[in-house]
Amino acid sequence: MSTIKLEVVSPDKVVYTEDIGMLIVRSTGGELGILPHHAPLVTGLVPHAMRVRVSQDRDEQLIAVAGGFMEVTPEKITVLATASEMPIDIDINRAKEAMARAKERIARFHQGQPESDGIDIERAQLALRRAIARLRAVGTELEA
Ligand code: ATP
Repeated sequence: MSTIKLEVVSPDKVVYTEDIGMLIVRSTGGELGILPHHAPLVTGLVPHAMRVRVSQDRDEQLIAVAGGFMEVTPEKITVLATASEMPIDIDINRAKEAMARAKERIARFHQGQPESDGIDIERAQLALRRAIARLRAVGTELEA
């Protein structure tokens, strides 16, 4: 199986670096599967759990990404993430609390309560998607 180097970098560290067989990401334009020798590409990423297939005989590795950019060259994939965590580094309770806060803000916004005026709905929706990405990366069952 041919491989390509993947480097996932967040503002404070290199989160993951490995020679991999395939990466599946959710870009701003939809889902993309990147194999070795992919055509050069730069795209934005939305919050999600990236799926890494290192080799055929190993399980998929999930990596949470909060957003950012991906650059693909024939030799290397670079993910420049606004934040990214390996499942082992994810604080599940923190992500659940972030999800509950975001859901509560979104509900208040839609109910149009007087105190909903200051709610930035896009910000709340993105916070919800980041929390969901982290929980998916650790395999937490979520409602549809
Ligand atoms: P919170 O409201 O809990 O801070 P957030 O989605 O606003 O969540 P980010 O702005 O995406 O957080 O990330 C800020 C920093 O905190 C990053 O370094 C990120 O890796 C880290 N981080 C956020 N949530 C978690 C988590 N549940 N477990 C581990 N690290 C986290």
